[in-house]
Amino acid sequence: MAPARKAETRPPRSRLRRGDTVQVIAGKDLGKTGKVLRLIPDKGRLIVEGVNFVKKHARRTREDRAGGIHEIEASVHVSNVMLVCPKCRQTTRIGHKTLADGTKVRLCRKCDEVIEK
Ligand SMILES: [Zn+2]
Repeated sequence: MAPARKAETRPPRSRLRRGDTVQVIAGKDLGKTGKVLRLIPDKGRLIVEGVNFVKKHARRTREDRAGGIHEIEASVHVSNVMLVCPKCRQTTRIGHKTLADGTKVRLCRKCDEVIEK
């Protein structure tokens, strides 16, 4: 008999892509905007340029001669950011639309403009 599968709590599916501009809507960086640098879909998180800096204490190593304290961007949860529409500059949710030729595109829910990429 196959072992019962554990109920998985799936991370929320993000419609954000790398290079999108997002605004932080919760937490210590509330109101900051930045570009999405990296997506971590398995965890429902992403790394945003200039957002959620954390101090990492690094030991001196061969690669890192200085050691000491580095500030790097830590990931933020997708639910804590919203897309900033490149057209209307508002934070928005993302809709979807299928064009006449069958390609799926993302859509700004506020101004109904197609969001590129
Ligand atoms: Zn818009």
